[in-house]
Amino acid sequence: MPDIQLINGKDIAAAHRTGLKTRIDDFRQQTGITPGLAVVLVGEDPASQVYVRSKRKMANALGMNSFLHLLPGSTSEDKLLKLVKDLNAAPDVHGILVQLPLPAEIDSKKVVEAIDPEKDVDGLHPINAGKLLLGQNGFVPCTPLGCLHLIQTVTKDLSGLHAVVIGRSHLVGKPMGQLLLNANCTVTQAHSRTRDLPAFTRQADIIIAAVGIPHLITAEHIKDGAIIIDVGINRLEDGSLTGDVDFDDVTAKHNCAITPVPGGVGPMTIAMLMENTFQAAQNAAP
Ligand code: NAP
Repeated sequence: MPDIQLINGKDIAAAHRTGLKTRIDDFRQQTGITPGLAVVLVGEDPASQVYVRSKRKMANALGMNSFLHLLPGSTSEDKLLKLVKDLNAAPDVHGILVQLPLPAEIDSKKVVEAIDPEKDVDGLHPINAGKLLLGQNGFVPCTPLGCLHLIQTVTKDLSGLHAVVIGRSHLVGKPMGQLLLNANCTVTQAHSRTRDLPAFTRQADIIIAAVGIPHLITAEHIKDGAIIIDVGINRLEDGSLTGDVDFDDVTAKHNCAITPVPGGVGPMTIAMLMENTFQAAQNAAP
């Protein structure tokens, strides 16, 4: 049987939250400031409603303030921009998250760019994306940040390792590649036009799958000993969730460290949102 290390994101995120709660409590005692997260959802998409409620619940459990703004799907772009402006000015709001995707009538780019970069805890504002590119301190999108933490539970020094990131979205793939480059990995960024994906992934010490195609990555894509981070969340016809990696096929044939879906990257994403919000509150403290 291959030697498998399960990267248990649920447990790792829980341990991270315990430490974070202590740091938040200390910060509140020292400064009198309670970190505050505003979450904005436009429309009635059930999956997004679950996401924003779980973010709110987590913020409250950590002793942070949370401000939930549930707006109808008919909300105009102007009204949403006005809300973002108000949240930018609100002293008790340190982090602002506008749940994406927004209704088609609203220009998401305009809304993201309206968020004060100092409160952009999702790390999607061009200023924060630019800082990541330049290796400067700024807010990094929560999912890739969580993936980096998970990789570092397997090995602290990533220097010289070959990482193959599959996917190049602004939310996951691109910032992931940049983070790994900043950690001195040799990075290959693959996408839908990549020819012969297995030829690249078979060389990888680290594979990040952020595509959205169930079981795209199989045992033939992997070399022995790889660290595999499965970002994909795909709902199958029977209602169950699965990743971009065929977990059973890979783990039956290779020694590897691998995240499960669910219970891998997802919990770390929310933990990193809380970390970013705490960071924003610290930055705002006098
Ligand atoms: P996205 O914006 O749809 O991007 C998907 C990427 O995959 C694109 O760059 C696309 O390439 C690439 N791609 C598509 N088909 C491919 C193929 N056959 N081979 C190689 N690359 C291919 O998705 P996303 O927002 O990055 O999310 C990716 C997945 O992660 C989704 O399943 C999403 O639900 C999940 N996700 C999970 C979390 C979490 O917390 N666990 C957070 C965010 C996202 P092109 O650029 O060429 O089109």
